[in-house]
Amino acid sequence: MPRARIIAATLALVALCASFTMPTHAQSRTGVQRLYILNCGEGVAGDISRWSPGVNEGRSMDFVDNCYLIKHAQGWMLWDTGVNDAIAAMPDGQKPADPRATHWKRPKTLASELAQLGVKPSDIKYVAVSHSHPDHTGNVEMFPQTMLLVQKAEYEWPGANNMPRFKPEHPVTKLEGDKDVFGDGSVTIISTPGHTPGHQSLLVKLPKTGALLLSGDAVHFQSNWDNRRVPAINADQEQTRASMQRMADTLAKEKATLWINHDKAQRDTLKMAPEYYE
Ligand SMILES: [Zn+2]
Repeated sequence: MPRARIIAATLALVALCASFTMPTHAQSRTGVQRLYILNCGEGVAGDISRWSPGVNEGRSMDFVDNCYLIKHAQGWMLWDTGVNDAIAAMPDGQKPADPRATHWKRPKTLASELAQLGVKPSDIKYVAVSHSHPDHTGNVEMFPQTMLLVQKAEYEWPGANNMPRFKPEHPVTKLEGDKDVFGDGSVTIISTPGHTPGHQSLLVKLPKTGALLLSGDAVHFQSNWDNRRVPAINADQEQTRASMQRMADTLAKEKATLWINHDKAQRDTLKMAPEYYE
């Protein structure tokens, strides 16, 4: 056989093999495999009318704070990081300066919850936060090498005394709108500004459970969602209303279920890590 024909035949064989192996390879790189709900804080809100001006004045309520750990075929992703792990060591938790705000405790550290699942902080490929408030960003620096996914508008929003809200040296992708995180439509950041300038929510499509929309703080508890109430602590009322409408449209379009981060009554009905959703 002439040398050129041998080379051509070899190349054809290689191409044929690649065409057989590629679909399997592509398949193994797509899709969410598991979603864990982590306990990232438990608190008591002194006066829930802060989140519903004029309604429920003086009424106290138990709050929860969730983190969501997602196992995708391409790697781990953490959505929100909860209140700082140091609060776990405080005998009476962290009392707020304003008694109407939330008194947070941390029954378990995020570090211990990840360790229980056999996940090291360096295993996490992406950390995305719904927004920059401390009950969501408390442990971002547990993942100093991990790519942070945050809206540009949130990243650049000046903090107290004009301080940056995130460490400038932390690897970051500054988003401007929605983001299909793994490129397969299974995990999508949905821009929902209003509560803060760059607030975002997360649409997760699970093979067995179906689609979930993780609220972030676009809404804090069920009755406020049902009545589309805008909290007093809020960056832009019109944006907040538009974002809630966008969430409602997304829920309808994707036949998704809304999981409200701080809603204890709802979370009490859900499985916590080490149990998981598929
Ligand atoms: Zn919050």
